[in-house]
Amino acid sequence: MGKALIIGAGGVASVCIHKCCQNPDVFEEICIASRTKSKCDALKAKLDGGKTKISTAQVNADNVDELIALINSFKPDVVVNLALPYQDLTIMDACLATKVNYVDTANYEPLDTAKFEYSWQWAYRERFEKAGITALLGSGFDPGVTGVFSAYAMKHQFDEINYIDILDCNAGDHGYPFATNFNPEINIREVSAKGSYIEDGKWVETEPMEIKRVYNFPEIGPKDMYLLHHEELESLALNIKGIKRIRFFMTFGQSYLTHLKCLENVGMTSIEPIDFEGKKIVPLQFLKAVLPDPASLGPRTVGKTNIGCIFIGKKDGKDKTYYLYNVCDHQECYKEVGSQAISYTTGVPAMIGAAMLLTGKWNKPGVHNIEEFDPDPFMDALNKFGLPWKESFDPELVE
Ligand code: NDP
Repeated sequence: MGKALIIGAGGVASVCIHKCCQNPDVFEEICIASRTKSKCDALKAKLDGGKTKISTAQVNADNVDELIALINSFKPDVVVNLALPYQDLTIMDACLATKVNYVDTANYEPLDTAKFEYSWQWAYRERFEKAGITALLGSGFDPGVTGVFSAYAMKHQFDEINYIDILDCNAGDHGYPFATNFNPEINIREVSAKGSYIEDGKWVETEPMEIKRVYNFPEIGPKDMYLLHHEELESLALNIKGIKRIRFFMTFGQSYLTHLKCLENVGMTSIEPIDFEGKKIVPLQFLKAVLPDPASLGPRTVGKTNIGCIFIGKKDGKDKTYYLYNVCDHQECYKEVGSQAISYTTGVPAMIGAAMLLTGKWNKPGVHNIEEFDPDPFMDALNKFGLPWKESFDPELVE
């Protein structure tokens, strides 16, 4: 059916590429392009021989001209950005110049400020509309499936949704004293930032990890979770009718938090460059270099993730609560695609988002967040491609 250019060859890209190869009628041809070409070649060597034709290329995705040249030579129908959030705008610029659809899993972040908001990408809306191409923003799990869950709840379960709590639980154990489950730099920037949530149309800011709750997660049990800022709050508050409050919670164990506090206290999580032996280095980037590579956690991680949304609203004039979630087992993921569940739960929706555009099931020129599309075909695909969802009409609520 079509051709996808996948940029990045890390943990998430590896899963997405495995899944494209499981869906060869849609992904007839893919090109894996990244900064380090040997990683692309290693993925190709692992997956070659199936129906999906695979090629590889070297690209610096910070350079728009290089991206344009690659797109012009491969001629994809969609570009799937699985590099880092720093590259979102350059890749969007290249898609605009070549009139090719765009998908990503994380909103743009400037390298020198840990700031998560959609304004930079939403500013491309008119230009994408005029070019007749679609940018699908945030097609991972959170953001991603959480937005699809919200659109599905709105379409099938509610007349209005007033409260959403997004709960992200990773009960996996990798056996290291401290490691992050995806890119350490991006992960630590996210969790060391101030928390925030939206109430009555306004952002309410909290200190990092200030708000803690305990939640009894289905198939996992009780876990401590903390309120974080998360990018989908911004788009869901605009796109879901009747929202009064929307919050995001993520689970962390005490050992992770103690390590993080020590690293923060000694300055290792700072993104301000410092002079070190005559060279400028960014402490957080140095920290990333000494931490375990998330891609190496797959074989050692055991346990499950449970990520989902609790909705409270009204249907036919009556109050209603509804919980949609997915439970994913780290070892099952490793057996299937050689990665742990965090990369898996992101890489599968990235493939599905690209498939929605390639098959024309989703086609809306402009720049759109995932909840703006019809959730039904995506929900079907989640069941088919390894992330089945479950629902509960009587969930425990978060205080
Ligand atoms: P990794 O660090 O494992 O992989 C990133 C890849 O991008 C690497 O192959 C890296 O190349 C490549 N890359 C980085 N910079 C450039 C560049 N300038 N040009 C070309 N390639 C580049 O990250 P993950 O796979 O863990 O994460 C990928 C994305 O997924 C991130 O944006 C992350 O925020 C997002 N994510 C989203 C989630 C969601 O649920 N929505 C959850 C988890 C992650 P090299 O090998 O040379 O370093």
